[in-house]
Amino acid sequence: MTDRSRSGGARVHEAVRTGTKVGGFLPSADRRLTVLSGPSGVGKSTVVAELRRAHPEVWLSVSVTTRRPRPGEVHGVHYFFVDGEEFDRLVGAGELLEWAEFAGNRYGTPRDAVLEKLAAGVPTLLEIDLEGARQVRRSMPDALLVFLAPPSWEELEKRLRGRGTEPEDVIARRLDAGRVEMAAEKEFDLTLVNTDVKDVCHRLIALMTDPLGVTTTTNREV
Ligand code: 5GP
Repeated sequence: MTDRSRSGGARVHEAVRTGTKVGGFLPSADRRLTVLSGPSGVGKSTVVAELRRAHPEVWLSVSVTTRRPRPGEVHGVHYFFVDGEEFDRLVGAGELLEWAEFAGNRYGTPRDAVLEKLAAGVPTLLEIDLEGARQVRRSMPDALLVFLAPPSWEELEKRLRGRGTEPEDVIARRLDAGRVEMAAEKEFDLTLVNTDVKDVCHRLIALMTDPLGVTTTTNREV
């Protein structure tokens, strides 16, 4: 039995929690954490929905948000919808792995659920914004950060407006945030261009389940 396998879930759990190395390397569970980011409207939630349908072996973290539910969104499935007071409590209690404010609302990743899945070796995906991705980069340096890019800026704007779920001022804020997110693409390990949802899912799954891909990837379009 290797030192690594003997270390057990608790040690990995602790190492993942603190972002420290176990015996000179980060625990393998850390490498199973993938972060998907990209500008609002690029189609992250469509990709996540397709993953949920086609790849139940991947665990998708359910975020907490102060945003109101959109039609069809279900509490506990798409988000945990909470008020500002509850969000403050979660932040204060250190229950969020990362959190950020985005276009007037707050969003965060419940820490324990993620750490439990990682400790169990389950491929885990976070769909979060740029600020959140940067926080994960700092606390879990071996996580794979994937940037989902639109085929073009015009296409992004079209998708965001076409969704028809937000008023113009919210769309404007999301487009502003989108410009900042697009400029940060190079901070990510690699970029997937969302021309076809099934194709993106296929590539994402390959990356998540191929540990070698994690160590050899650089930022490039795949
Ligand atoms: P939406 O309101 O469109 O569902 O999400 C707005 C933005 O918040 C998206 O960029 C989405 O990726 C991001 N987001 C969703 N959940 C989280 C989270 O837990 N943490 C962070 N930092 N961003 C999140």
